[in-house]
Parts: sequence; structure tokens; C-alpha cells
Amino acid sequence: MYSPKTWAVSGQELWQWRDEACAAATAAAISSAEVDWLLQELAGLDRLTLRLESFKHWPQVQLRLSLSELTKLWQKRIEARVPVQYLAGTAPWRQFNLTVSPAVLIPRPETELIIDLAVVAAQSSSPELGSSAPEVWADLGTGSGAIAIGLATAFPKATVYAVDCSPDAIAVAQQNATELGLIDRIQFFQGAWFQPLNGLEGQLRGMVSNPPYIPSAMVSSLQPEVAWHEPHLALDGGEDGLDCIRHLVATAPTYLKPGGIWLIEMMAGQAEQVVELLERQGDYDRIQVHADLAGIDRFVLAHRR
Ligand code: GLN
Repeated sequence: MYSPKTWAVSGQELWQWRDEACAAATAAAISSAEVDWLLQELAGLDRLTLRLESFKHWPQVQLRLSLSELTKLWQKRIEARVPVQYLAGTAPWRQFNLTVSPAVLIPRPETELIIDLAVVAAQSSSPELGSSAPEVWADLGTGSGAIAIGLATAFPKATVYAVDCSPDAIAVAQQNATELGLIDRIQFFQGAWFQPLNGLEGQLRGMVSNPPYIPSAMVSSLQPEVAWHEPHLALDGGEDGLDCIRHLVATAPTYLKPGGIWLIEMMAGQAEQVVELLERQGDYDRIQVHADLAGIDRFVLAHRR
């Protein structure tokens, strides 16, 4: 997002900029910690230097943009409520620093756990004996590529298929996979859910997805950062929020191996309905609901019979 060129400012100037930005943040009920995070990303200052304010006495600090551009960015944060991750062009997720743009949902901390759930589920259900072919996993609705990247890292011998209906999202996900050296392990497809995976029927070890699951009427009432700036395509799950989840329940059995893993993220309050959908479908067993670290039922895991 930013050119390799750098701009020099005095430590004193930057200190003053930070002081004003923090005051503007506080007045707008935005955490001033976001100012420091932006400076970590764009000024290369580490957290301790920022906390101790030791840069104040440095003759020079190198920025990846000019101070006036930084001011404009911070105005966008305060006035237009642009999420700070879009301003920096990056978002931390698990051990990765992912590139993000408004074409993709900012990967959320609560979603990090989905990778650990996939790992535990895979350990507890061994694939059929005699199979030497590499395991295949799918991340449907990959967005920034976060889940696909998490899976490719957690399962070093697996191939991951990452699908998204947005070409712009695929471009971001591919950039992330390339930067992390995982481009040979993840195959990207533009299309809807399983549709581009024709030919892989009965072959998937697991399907993982963070689909859109917010009921349509609720999307515009989400916090402005989300409602105004994040892609509604990645949020809006139809009237009751369950349209995409219903589709994944119905279509996954064709693509999963026997024992294959079905794992999705959902919204608080949806667990009971998702479990019922899986039970009624008839091809799943060992259906489990898992909470996130805030104690909210957030994931449903099942196995294909
Ligand atoms: N967790 C997201 C939010 O907080 C929603 C993500 C989704 O719909 N998959 O808005």
C-alpha cells in the first residue's frame, strides 16, 4: 500500500502529532491505543519506545508517509470511522500480519480459534488407512485468506483450496499467501462456495468457513466501522443470517470424505438452529458447539458420516 520511500520528521514533531491524535481519539471515544498501533505500522516504532515516549528526543524518525498524510489518515479514522486496519493496510491475526483492504472483512481475533478447533478435530479422527494422497481442506469465503493461511500452516502436508466470490478478495488473499511463502500450498478459486470445486466430490478432509451470518436487517445497525466500511457481501447472511450456513450444511456432504470435518463460525444465538440443520440433514454425526474465548457459542463442528 505504501511506497518504499520514507519521510523524516523530528521526534518532537511526531510526539506532538501523537499527543493531538490521542486527544482527538479520546474525544471521539476511540481507543488511543490505535494511534500507537498505527505508528508501529507506519513509523516502525516499537511498543516500548511509544510507551516510554523515548522517540521524543530523537533527531529523526522515518515515516512511510508524510506527517500531513498521517493527519489525513487519522481524520478518516475519527470522522469517517474507517477501521484503523484499513488505514494501515494490515491486520494482525494469529502469528501473521495480513494485508487487508476494504474488499475483505478484517480478520477477527475470535476467528483465530477456528484453526485450533480444526487441528483438534483432525487429530481425533484419523483418515482412512492406506490413503497416501495429500489431505485437502477448503476455506469457503476466504476473504483476506486468513483461514486458508492458518490451515496451510497448521497442516503442513495438506493442500488448501480457498474460494471467494469476490475477485478483489481473491487478489488480497493471494498476496497474503505469497508474502507468507504459502502460495504453492493454497489454490485460489473465484466462485460461490463449493461450485468451483467440481471434481473434488468425496475428497475433502475438511471444510472450514466464516460465512456471512448477520441477519440483513441488523447489518446497518452494526458499529459504523463495520456497517460503513466492511464488505456487506462478507457480513449479510440473509433474513435470519443463516442462508449461507444452510447452503453449506446442504452441499458439504457431497464434497467431504467419510469422517471429514465441517466447521463454521456463526453469531451468538445461532447455535441451536445450526445444530438442528445438521441433524435434520442426516449426513453428519459428532455435532459439537464450541465457545470463543469470550464464552460465546461461536463455532459448530461436525463430521460427515
Ligand atoms: N464477526 C463479524 C462481525 O463482528 C461478522 C463476520 C461474519 O459475518 N462472518 O461483524
